[in-house]
Amino acid sequence: MAYEALYTRVRPKNLAQLIGQEHITTALTRAISNSRLSHAYLLVGTRGTGKTSTARILAKAMNCEKVLQAQKEGRPLNATEIPCGKCPSCLGINSSPDNVEFDAASNRSVEDVSRLLSTANLAPLQSRVKTFIIDEVHMLSFEAVNSILKLIEEPPPHVAFFLATTEFNKVPQTIRSRCQILNFHLIPNEMIASYLQKLSKSLNVELTKEAARKFARLAAGSMRDAVTYFDQCYAMADKVISLEDVEKTLGLVSDADLDEIISAVKDENRTALSAALSRVFRSGLSAVSIAEALIGRLRDVEYNHLKRHIDSELAMLENFSEEIRKVIGEMQYSGIPDIILEMALMKIAAPKISMLTENTSSANTKRTESLDDIKKIFYELRGKLPDNEKNLRAMLSEAAVLKFSNDVVTIGFTSQSLSNMFNDDRRERFEEYISRKINRKIKIEKVVSQKGEGYADYQDIDEREKRNIQTAMDLFQIN
Ligand SMILES: [Zn+2]
Repeated sequence: MAYEALYTRVRPKNLAQLIGQEHITTALTRAISNSRLSHAYLLVGTRGTGKTSTARILAKAMNCEKVLQAQKEGRPLNATEIPCGKCPSCLGINSSPDNVEFDAASNRSVEDVSRLLSTANLAPLQSRVKTFIIDEVHMLSFEAVNSILKLIEEPPPHVAFFLATTEFNKVPQTIRSRCQILNFHLIPNEMIASYLQKLSKSLNVELTKEAARKFARLAAGSMRDAVTYFDQCYAMADKVISLEDVEKTLGLVSDADLDEIISAVKDENRTALSAALSRVFRSGLSAVSIAEALIGRLRDVEYNHLKRHIDSELAMLENFSEEIRKVIGEMQYSGIPDIILEMALMKIAAPKISMLTENTSSANTKRTESLDDIKKIFYELRGKLPDNEKNLRAMLSEAAVLKFSNDVVTIGFTSQSLSNMFNDDRRERFEEYISRKINRKIKIEKVVSQKGEGYADYQDIDEREKRNIQTAMDLFQIN
């Protein structure tokens, strides 16, 4: 048997199982108890909040033998009884010709819709009421909307419509005004988390509180997304699903790493920041996803501060996420998003008095790098130079680090002309890049040397950097 997604299996089967939409459960339970269901509903809300499930519940309830019986007797119904889920009508609805469900995103044209609604004017074959469920109704073409309007305006007595949409603003006013509107809310994180914990228990897996909260935060109010994320981890889980499992399985930046970055920025500790960033970059995540995760984490920290009435850091945190938000756009269209993120973070982490001019006595700045460290930093920075530094990148691709002592880096160029092009202005800029990276002011000295010593380092550069250098060389017509 084909694998059935967990979300399909755990969809709410009656109004009581609908999560986070109490206002809808209450209103519909009352309407059904009083036999006052409308013939057309417009279900509005973000994806995964329960619109389609509710439409299916209502379609069943309209024909459920137990519901009809209670209505006849005037007995008020409980949300768990709507629908009963056991009578022949409830059990047979999926194969019933009287229940039509389709997605307007893939059936937009008037021909599609006319075909799907062709039986609306005929009496139902098996049920009391014919039900039509249309998902993403805002996607319908203008003509298709008109053909539905006629049916909603003068509905045959035996027909009910359930129209669902994620984009209320795109639904024509003519449809809105003829339907009862049900507004689905985003489901609060705590509700999603506690639902997932119950669900995992029923599947004999323990889901830790932190992991459940993580799913809820990622899902941002959508139960479908939350269950889908959970399902991915559940498929690989043993007995327990921990926060770490979630981060690993879904390929997320861990909260611990994010916290380390945030602390380093707050402490203006650029050495620690650089170390934390390198580790996160090495895990292979995209810089944009790291930046987005960082914004999410900052929001959590801000929220916690607000809750505990800690005002001191709020402005700093706000500014922090604002700066990251600003560079995300830039990162998406750049070939070097990681260097943009790193530079932005370094800027936020910059001490208010410049580290570069004032040598502080902090332990972090006292460290001395070896020649190998400097080589690594040099090649790394060279490979990551932004696009507006193409020329610098190209000429440095022909340079090798030869010596490092007393905070002076000696680099060798293969020709006098290249050495000349590496003028004071460019030298100072690259000095600045290295100085920022190691948190200390350094100088660069240039010499002309034979291609030999030092150049073997080029072999150690990773493929990506080689590509960058090649592109730069092509652009600069160096070979
Ligand atoms: Zn039933």
